[in-house]
Amino acid sequence: MRALITGAAGFLGSHLTDALLADGHSVVGVDNLCTGSLENLKHLQSDPHFELHQHDICTPFDYGKVDFVFNFASPASPEDYARLGIETLQVGSAGTRNALDVAEKYQAGFLHASTSECYGDPTVHPQTEDYWGNVNPVGPRSVYDESKRFSEALVMAYHRYRKVDTRLVRIFNTYGPRLQANDGRVISNFIMQALQGNDLTVYGKGDQTRSFCYVSDEIDGFLRLARSTEHSPVNIGNPTEWTILECARAVLRVTGSNSKIVYRPLPQDDPMQRRPDITRARRLLGWEPAIDLETGLKLSLEYFRSSFSSSEVSDKQ
Ligand code: UDP
Repeated sequence: MRALITGAAGFLGSHLTDALLADGHSVVGVDNLCTGSLENLKHLQSDPHFELHQHDICTPFDYGKVDFVFNFASPASPEDYARLGIETLQVGSAGTRNALDVAEKYQAGFLHASTSECYGDPTVHPQTEDYWGNVNPVGPRSVYDESKRFSEALVMAYHRYRKVDTRLVRIFNTYGPRLQANDGRVISNFIMQALQGNDLTVYGKGDQTRSFCYVSDEIDGFLRLARSTEHSPVNIGNPTEWTILECARAVLRVTGSNSKIVYRPLPQDDPMQRRPDITRARRLLGWEPAIDLETGLKLSLEYFRSSFSSSEVSDKQ
């Protein structure tokens, strides 16, 4: 199979690229590098089954016949999409449409990376796929949430009106190597703060919850969904729920750091609770995550340590 991945230089896109290549497929990567990094694909430079096109998918593109399109291009951390608000709205609308046009042209399968942010600050807990969400359409997170919700509508419209063979995955908080060390997300912030001996910054009281999935489990879920014939959204995330304070303590345990926990203001519209109901993924895909948070944090440490040493080097230059 020849697969096209938009956002191939990103955290999830690059792991997906590796997994497809390992399964014997060819991968065409597309990325404008606005938040992705060539470093994530450096090891593939001389792989004959991989090609990378530096291109913004908001402008139409065509790199020849493909059998499957994975649409993963978008800023995704709250700090990144706040900085790149218009770009985020654009990639979830024009960008997704251009990717769908490629799938339609080549009658390829299509999997779109959607998000638990479609549920907003949820009033239903845990979140099932049939919950419509509680999203502020004009708040600071709206550039991401509404972009992803519009993408879902577009994907379903291409499925209904143009018979494109689409899939929608709703991704919950995911972490692991290649998560940008400085993207402001909770896991990257806490690990970097712990390794550098800085205070861990808990926003609010730390009683808001998230459910963290290790990247290899998440990618396994994507591949199973891609092989299925399911067109409705499927949650892929780890259903074990942690408060942010518990998460900070887990990072301190795993790193052995003596850093202190300090409290900072809670950002506006920060969801209070988030946990996927994965009944659908279990039933349709036989999927469930295997790696718990502390194991996954241990597996991520080496990567963050090396990001830490390279940021020290660049600070000195
Ligand atoms: N958070 C925190 N300290 C940080 C970064 C994030 O307490 O240094 C909190 C944030 O307020 C949110 C949760 O951790 O409640 C997860 O934030 P993240 O940015 O990773 O992603 P989100 O799930 O909000 O999209």
